[in-house]
Amino acid sequence: MERKVVIIGDGAVGSSIAFTLTSGTLVNEIIIIDVNKDKAEGDVLDLNHGMALSTPKLIKAGDYSDVKDAKVIILACGVSQREGETRIELLDRNKRIFDSVLNSLKPYLNKDAIILVVTNPVDILAYYVSNNVNLPRKQVIGSGTVLDTARLKYLLSLDTGIDPRSIHAYVVGEHGDSEVVAFSATTIAGLSIEDYYASCDDCRENHLENFKNIEQDVRNSAYEIIKRKGSTYYGIALATKRILESIFNNQQSVLTVSTYIENEYDGRISDVYLSVPAVVGENGVEKIIRPHYSEAELEALIKSAAVLKEKR
Ligand code: NAD
Repeated sequence: MERKVVIIGDGAVGSSIAFTLTSGTLVNEIIIIDVNKDKAEGDVLDLNHGMALSTPKLIKAGDYSDVKDAKVIILACGVSQREGETRIELLDRNKRIFDSVLNSLKPYLNKDAIILVVTNPVDILAYYVSNNVNLPRKQVIGSGTVLDTARLKYLLSLDTGIDPRSIHAYVVGEHGDSEVVAFSATTIAGLSIEDYYASCDDCRENHLENFKNIEQDVRNSAYEIIKRKGSTYYGIALATKRILESIFNNQQSVLTVSTYIENEYDGRISDVYLSVPAVVGENGVEKIIRPHYSEAELEALIKSAAVLKEKR
């Protein structure tokens, strides 16, 4: 398989993704496309100067014909949230940008390509892309709540003192305000998070109250970062790299990417893109997994799907 990635949109997010991909051997070709050609060319020069210091690979400012033999096309083009703005409020502006980008890339899309949407609102735009390109649904993925899930694991690691990679946890639903932290599906060494706290001598006693704070912190993370420095990009760059790892190495990792859901939970969630634990490999999303959500979590997930359908 060609280890070739095309990144469309070389702003804070796209350029951070490119940078994270320069080290290591996950990809051997990185093509950057942006309407601002100077920015793309400047970043390419900058990144190429690091080649003698990291792992040599082809990095160039390209055009849409580069899509023809790319395995993954990352869409990171479009406007980002200003302070106080929700992700969904970006929809109309980013749909217009996507219309022109999709027109340009469609003639070159190969049948095995995977499109990874990062631009917000990521779930609605992934649905939009999927409806407008000739690829199976499983090959159009949104970065979804992979980042939110990483934020959740980080916050739980602060609270428990445990390596975030040893905590199994999932944020599901919209990558946005209606997302759901599935505490019922959170485990440490096979123990539910509740049982873990109950059996832990040095854990805080008021953990239920703390779960509420953690949930709010996860949901508000982007707003807090944007308030301080204008935009978020390092976390999403690493989340994107993690998804690419599972695709290029066919790892079958369970990741909360945004994927097409049809007729789930007695049809209460259908014809919508949102995040659930999904198995990701070289063909995209291979299957989804249905954890035992609490009743309240399932209701919240159904509501999140309804929000995404109403706003699109
Ligand atoms: P940015 O403004 O820094 O960059 C956007 C880039 O898109 C610019 O370089 C711009 O020139 C380019 N662009 C615009 N129209 C284009 C077109 N037609 N073709 C090619 N390029 C075009 O924004 P950013 O901070 O990089 O954010 C990009 C997107 O990523 C936003 O929608 C943001 O909300 C989203 N984002 C998503 C996540 C996530 O978890 N999914 C996290 C952070 C940001």
